[in-house]
Amino acid sequence: MDPQSVLDHVTQEASACTKCDLHYSRKNAVAGEGPAKAEIMFIGEGPGFHENQQGRPFVGAAGRFLDELLEGIGMHRGQVFITNVVKCRPPGNRDPRPEEIDACSDYLERQMQALNPKVIVTLGRHSMGRFLPHAKISDVHGQAMRIKGRLVVPMYHPAAALHQRSLRPVIERDFASLPELIQNATENSEYSEYEEPTAERSDPKQLNLFDLS
Ligand code: URA
Ligand code: SF4
Repeated sequence: MDPQSVLDHVTQEASACTKCDLHYSRKNAVAGEGPAKAEIMFIGEGPGFHENQQGRPFVGAAGRFLDELLEGIGMHRGQVFITNVVKCRPPGNRDPRPEEIDACSDYLERQMQALNPKVIVTLGRHSMGRFLPHAKISDVHGQAMRIKGRLVVPMYHPAAALHQRSLRPVIERDFASLPELIQNATENSEYSEYEEPTAERSDPKQLNLFDLS
């Protein structure tokens, strides 16, 4: 199946999905959106109020900030793929539960395979947790690493930067590294695989991160 058809199938399936309890309260599933040829894939946490209303990812305040961040690096939403670890809104915007993330992971997996993006940007802890279950976001944000063959850059969630002003320059700086990262993604393919430390909390000194400066 061609990549666009895979993405369309995922969208269709998610809209009728009953694999976890989040389907009871959703108005619209939010599978994600963006072109099949997108080089960057952003993975957020889950739809919020506005996303549930409209069936589109990141259309509320956090989404406006995401648009600004993209604009800051000379890009726009139409060039990137944006999705979430869970496709249906957790009631009251609570954190998605591990069993909900698990139930939904097949959709995300198929989207990643179809897009095969140069860079995956995780937004927030829950999205990072899919790739780096033991990492601490304050240790690893903005650092590119190869995980299971994919180039992943964990970043703070834009909503976190809206709530905590001091994070704004941090997330802006992390975004600023994206154009070069995409540019070099092919050459970076020889970078060795990141191995998840077995410790509860990863020690940043042990992380196999590559320096892109
Ligand atoms: N926050 C998210 O994590 N995802 C959205 O789609 C909107 C807000
Ligand atoms: Fe299905 Fe995912 Fe929605 Fe749960 S969150 S009902 S697994 S689409």
